Amino acid sequence: MIVGAGFAGLWAARGLALSPVDVLLIDRNNYHLFLPLLYQVAAELEAEDIACPVRSILRGVPNVKFILSEVRRIDPDAREVETDGGRIPFDYLVLAAGSTSHFFGIPGAPEHSFPLKTLSEGVALRNRILRSFERAARESDPGRRIAALTFVIVGGGATGVEFSGALAELIHGPLRKDFPFLDFRETRVVVIEAKDGLLPGMPDTLRRYALKKLARKGIEVRLGTTVRGVTENGIRLEDGTFIPSETTVWTAGVRGETFGGNERVTLSPDRRVKVMPSLELPGYPGIFAAGDLAYFEEAGKPLPLMAPVAIQMGETADGRIAGCVQYAADGALGPAA
Ligand SMILES: Cc1cc2nc3c(=O)[nH]c(=O)nc-3n(C[C@H](O)[C@H](O)[C@H](O)COP(=O)(O)OP(=O)(O)OC[C@H]3O[C@@H](n4cnc5c(N)ncnc54)[C@H](O)[C@@H]3O)c2cc1C
Repeated sequence: MIVGAGFAGLWAARGLALSPVDVLLIDRNNYHLFLPLLYQVAAELEAEDIACPVRSILRGVPNVKFILSEVRRIDPDAREVETDGGRIPFDYLVLAAGSTSHFFGIPGAPEHSFPLKTLSEGVALRNRILRSFERAARESDPGRRIAALTFVIVGGGATGVEFSGALAELIHGPLRKDFPFLDFRETRVVVIEAKDGLLPGMPDTLRRYALKKLARKGIEVRLGTTVRGVTENGIRLEDGTFIPSETTVWTAGVRGETFGGNERVTLSPDRRVKVMPSLELPGYPGIFAAGDLAYFEEAGKPLPLMAPVAIQMGETADGRIAGCVQYAADGALGPAA
């Protein structure tokens, strides 16, 4: 059983397609989402450009069955998962459910900001941007108009940098043509980053380049700045500054996707499942975690939450399962062997 048809889950399923095993792939959506381009859906790509039906991907793969279902609970001792359609037993399990937005307990952030982790969130954000311009077009109060045209992006990591750049291009490209009567000097794109530079973890030259590039696009970047709270009318910074803005975009943090049963396994502080080098959960042979959900340190640093890492983990898990199955077929004992 594989939970999640993202990069890790899909690659694990593909790898097992040629093995003598029956694979059940479960996802709460019936499409695989190419997350690295989600920021473009919030700006100008269509949703279907980055979502591909799982059933089409698996066409012609007889030993991989897909079901559309939400996994609610894992019972690693009984070796069952509980879904919205009932309990399903497994011999081997790959948990590849990815990660979700994390708001660090900042008041108002979950209710009043737009996260960017799912297709519906990408579409909702694009609708908000377009509606803000429509609202500004009929707003006579300058303060409220400026708030409608101010977009604050919390988080200067890869998603925040990519999205703010795409948003500035959308504003000063198509939207400038669509709203020629608006004063575009009233538009603001602001990136708030708690660390002292953009793109934490990347080489310094790239970090400086990104900063210059955003400045050239007219994007304000506030480094070393933390957020105290978010409301529907703006964002309050830790130093007391209030930025009037009707749209706060949250790209500041992620943590492991959670389900019931996680309490039986060891989690990192960001709620990712700790795994051994084989990607199995300590104490649970034959149960693997892969992709963003898995926490594994290499040279003292956790592996980054990136698509190539997820793909490699999915391939590692499927290779390990295929090896175990072959070993069992050769006469040894099941998954623990
Ligand atoms: C906006 C954005 C931009 C990014 N840009 C880049 C980039 O440029 N380069 C890069 O390498 N990485 C990028 N990443 C990171 C990359 O997308 C992730 O590291 C990668 O998607 C992780 O793969 P995964 O398989 O672990 O999880 P995901 O791809 O998130 O897949 C998880 C799957 O599990 C399913 N699922 C979750 N919970 C349940 C449940 N309870 N029941 C059933 N199904 C469930 C989900 O529907 C989803 O299909 C970006 C991420 C985001 C959000």
